[in-house]
Amino acid sequence: MDRVSGSRMGFCKQSAELRIAYIGPHFGEEPPLTRTRGSGTIFFTGCSLRCTFCQNHQISRDGLGEVMEMAGLMERVETMIRKGSVHNVNFVTPDHFFPHAFRFIAELRGRGHSLPMVFNLSGYQSGDLLKLAHAHADIYLPDFKYADRSLAEKLSGCRNYPDVALSAIEETIAGKGFLDSLEDDFFPASQGVLVRHLILPGYVENSLDALTTLFLEFGRRLPLSLMSQYCPVVPHDDPNLNRTLAKSEFDLVCAHALDLGFEHLFVQIPEEAPGANAGKRPDFVPDFRLDRPFTAPLP
Ligand code: SF4
Repeated sequence: MDRVSGSRMGFCKQSAELRIAYIGPHFGEEPPLTRTRGSGTIFFTGCSLRCTFCQNHQISRDGLGEVMEMAGLMERVETMIRKGSVHNVNFVTPDHFFPHAFRFIAELRGRGHSLPMVFNLSGYQSGDLLKLAHAHADIYLPDFKYADRSLAEKLSGCRNYPDVALSAIEETIAGKGFLDSLEDDFFPASQGVLVRHLILPGYVENSLDALTTLFLEFGRRLPLSLMSQYCPVVPHDDPNLNRTLAKSEFDLVCAHALDLGFEHLFVQIPEEAPGANAGKRPDFVPDFRLDRPFTAPLP
């Protein structure tokens, strides 16, 4: 859809006006991204996938965020870089604002900032768009959410997600290779791809198949992050999505990743007593109504 003429909204529920929900350092990304000073995140409002289970529901589906001009964004990001000395600038779900992100990065580079630019993606991108992004992004964090087409249709409305996401991951690897700084516990990453998979409660088979698929497509050297943080942030018709992930489910998926022999595996061990069951948000589930949306531990 053409969102430029006539201020029309796209499927992402955004017009061509840039809308941002949060700018600030974040310590909940994988260690090569956060190291000691955190990742400098920019969370964009809206999403081109709009998954029912989204942990960022407030911004991806409910539209929380403020319209921002390029100059305002520049001021906020330069302040974040100056004050926090963050290791990178991390564009979280920027798909529907790629032109804004490209322009912003060009201006940031023009002002002498050489930090790595991270694109944190749903995996549902076209190869052509990613080819354009290579000139701007240094690091890609694409999701691989589903190997199961029926589940992709049910939860994200796109049966072709596995095919699109595999092609997208292939394109990101072709452009930037695997994430660097994996053998090092000190230096932050400067380039490459790390694939993420969120394990959904009740859908372990999808996760096992997703890992097998990634292994067969990209091999055991693919950097992979297994996320267990799922928490129901809105009520669901599907009872599976009204609970957090069981430790036994996580263990099955983690064991499969180890059996496949992934050499660079990041895991998020489920909390013993997830806050969701006590009516609280777990550490890594943000509340964008707050000045500090994340309660994830500071270093
Ligand atoms: S792609 Fe990510 S941000 Fe977008 S709706 Fe799905 S889970 Fe949320």
